[in-house]
Amino acid sequence: MSSTKSAIVIGAGIVGLATARALAIRGFKVKIFERSQRAVGASIRNFGMVWPIGQPTGELYETALRSRSIWKEACTEAGIWHNENGSLHLAYHDDEWAVLEEFVAENQAGRPAVSLLLKKQVRDKSSVAVLKGLKGALWSSDELIVDPREAIAKLPEYFTEKYGIEFHFGVAATEVHSGQVRTGDGKKHRTDRIFICSGQDFETLYPQAFTDSGITRCKLQMMRTPAQPARLGASLCAGLTLTHYKAFEKLPSLPALRSRFEKEMPEYLKWGIHVLVSQNHAGEVTLGDTHEYGLHLDPFDRAELNDLVLKYLETFCRLPKPQVAETWHGIYAKLPAGKSWLVVEPEPGVTILNGMGGAGMTLSFGLAEQVVRGANLD
Ligand SMILES: Cc1cc2nc3c(=O)[nH]c(=O)nc-3n(C[C@H](O)[C@H](O)[C@H](O)COP(=O)(O)OP(=O)(O)OC[C@H]3O[C@@H](n4cnc5c(N)ncnc54)[C@H](O)[C@@H]3O)c2cc1C
Repeated sequence: MSSTKSAIVIGAGIVGLATARALAIRGFKVKIFERSQRAVGASIRNFGMVWPIGQPTGELYETALRSRSIWKEACTEAGIWHNENGSLHLAYHDDEWAVLEEFVAENQAGRPAVSLLLKKQVRDKSSVAVLKGLKGALWSSDELIVDPREAIAKLPEYFTEKYGIEFHFGVAATEVHSGQVRTGDGKKHRTDRIFICSGQDFETLYPQAFTDSGITRCKLQMMRTPAQPARLGASLCAGLTLTHYKAFEKLPSLPALRSRFEKEMPEYLKWGIHVLVSQNHAGEVTLGDTHEYGLHLDPFDRAELNDLVLKYLETFCRLPKPQVAETWHGIYAKLPAGKSWLVVEPEPGVTILNGMGGAGMTLSFGLAEQVVRGANLD
C-alpha cells in the first residue's frame, strides 16, 4: 500500500478516534471532521468503563481485551489517568449467586481473570461494598476505568503527535460521496477512503443505511457525586446488572432471576435500570443508569428514575459522600438484539461504523482495527 493514501473520518467520539488511529497505523494520512468544538456526545458522557466482563467469551471478549490493551498504551503514553481496578458483581440472593457460579463454571477456561470471592475477600477489594447479607461476588481483574471527559479531550493531541492525524473541530460533514466529503463551510475534500462515525446522528449522512439497519437510540440518565475522601477499590455492580450484559444472557439460571425482578422490581425493568459505580481520578463517583429506547426521546430527565438508581445503590454500596453533585443524560446508537455493531458500505470507499450500544468504550479500539484490516484498503 502506498503511504500517500488519505482517509477522512467523520466524528471525533471514541469510534472516530479509534478508526482514525487504526487507519494511521496502516499508513493513511488521516483527517477527522467533528462538528462540535470538542466531542460532546456519548463518549464523554459515559462511565469510562472498559468492561470486558460484559462481553461473551469469544470474539467480543477478545475484541474488548484488544481495546483494553490499546487504552493502556494510549493512556500511558498520553498521560491520561486510568485505573486497572477490576470489577465486582455483588450477590445478595441465592438466584444471583447461582448466575455467578454458572458464569464462572462455564467461562473460567477462557477467562482466567474471573473468580468467585467470599464475603471476607470482598472486603479487600472494596471499601464501600455492603457486606451485610452478601453471599459472595464475581471478581474480574480485566476492567479498567478512564475519566471519559479527560480521555476524549486529550486523545486528539496525542494522536496528532504520534500519528500525524489532523483534527478539524467545529466542522460538520454535510454531504459524502465516494472519494469526496463536503463540509458545512462549503469546501470539498477529496480523499481515498471515508469512515462515518457519527454516533446518534442517523439523519445527516446516508439516512437510509441507518433506517435499513433497524438502529435506534437509547437515552441513559447519569449522576456524579462529589469527591469521596478515599479510593473505593473495584468498580461495583449487583444483581440487576446480570440482566443487562450479553455475557450472562445465555446462562440457564438467568430466567429465574429475571422473573424475580419482574415480580419484585417491575419499575426497574421497565426503565432498564441497573446500577454501576465508577470512581474517577478526582475521587468523584459516576453513577447510573436508566435505558429508554426510541428514535424520538424525551429531552427532559426524570428525577424519580435517579431516585430509583440511588435506592438500589444503597442495597450494595455505601458511599461516604452519596450526595448528587451533577446529573446529565447521554444517548447512544442501539442496534436490534443480536447485533453488536454496524459496519456497512453505502457507496464504494465509504464505511459507516456505529452501533456498539453501551459498549463503545470497551470495543471501539479493537473493532476499528478489525474493520480497517478487513476493509480492502490496499
Ligand atoms: C450514559 C452512557 C454511559 C455509557 N457507559 C459506557 C461505559 O462505561 N463503557 C462502555 O464501553 N460504553 C459505554 N457507553 C457507550 C459508549 O459511550 C458509546 O458506545 C460510544 O461513546 C459511542 O461512540 P461514538 O463515537 O459512536 O459516538 P459519539 O461519542 O456520540 O460521537 C459521535 C461524534 O460524531 C460527531 N458527528 C456526528 N455527525 C457529524 C457530522 N455530520 N459531521 C461532523 N461530526 C459529526 C458528533 O458531534 C459526535 O461528537 C455509555 C454510553 C452512555 C450514553
